[in-house]
Amino acid sequence: MSSEEKHKITRREFIRKGMQLSILIGLGSIAGGLITKTISEKTVWQLDTKKCTQCGRCATSCIKKPSAVKCFHAYDMCGYCDLCGGYFRPGTKDLTTAAENQLCPTSALKRKFIEEPFFEYEIDKELCIGCGKCVKGCGAFGNGSLQLQVSQDLCDNCNDCSIARDCPSNAFSRVLNSESYLMLGLRDSNKWKNKI
Ligand code: SF4
Ligand code: SF4
Ligand code: SF4
Repeated sequence: MSSEEKHKITRREFIRKGMQLSILIGLGSIAGGLITKTISEKTVWQLDTKKCTQCGRCATSCIKKPSAVKCFHAYDMCGYCDLCGGYFRPGTKDLTTAAENQLCPTSALKRKFIEEPFFEYEIDKELCIGCGKCVKGCGAFGNGSLQLQVSQDLCDNCNDCSIARDCPSNAFSRVLNSESYLMLGLRDSNKWKNKI
């Protein structure tokens, strides 16, 4: 083998080792990034809507007044019913927006006519106190599209959440922030998340 050929092999070897090293560095930084993300991503309080029995403590036990727990509407699941069990008091004769017909104690649930016989329901977060009355009503007569959840923009993310301590159903737990609002059993939770 001539010295020129030896030189070529050495050079080729050098490039190959260099490429291997850069692949290793690349993989290392991806793994490092994932570890850092997992470690640094904060956790938040969420309630499991399947465990919640709407006992009322979400309204009274939160350190925030009104509570950081609010009613959310899972639009994908809603039947847009005229006779909404979450909106009307049981036994209401007139299906109108009159305050005496409404189940919500603060009139936080708004009703908008879409087309016969469909109505859309929206929650005014500033008025909602998280009592869960509408959630119970919707679950009893509808398909459970009204649900209580910790509103992350309002929650102080207390280390020791006073609702978690008081909840009789043990429905509160900490989840990764990126996984919040994912406990509603929706077909497309991201679409719903954008409506918050
Ligand atoms: S305290 Fe627990 S059971 Fe009661 S409303 Fe809140 S999450 Fe539901
Ligand atoms: S009934 Fe209670 S939980 Fe439902 S919207 Fe009104 S205040 Fe909020
Ligand atoms: S973490 Fe604090 S602010 Fe958030 S829901 Fe619990 S008690 Fe309320």
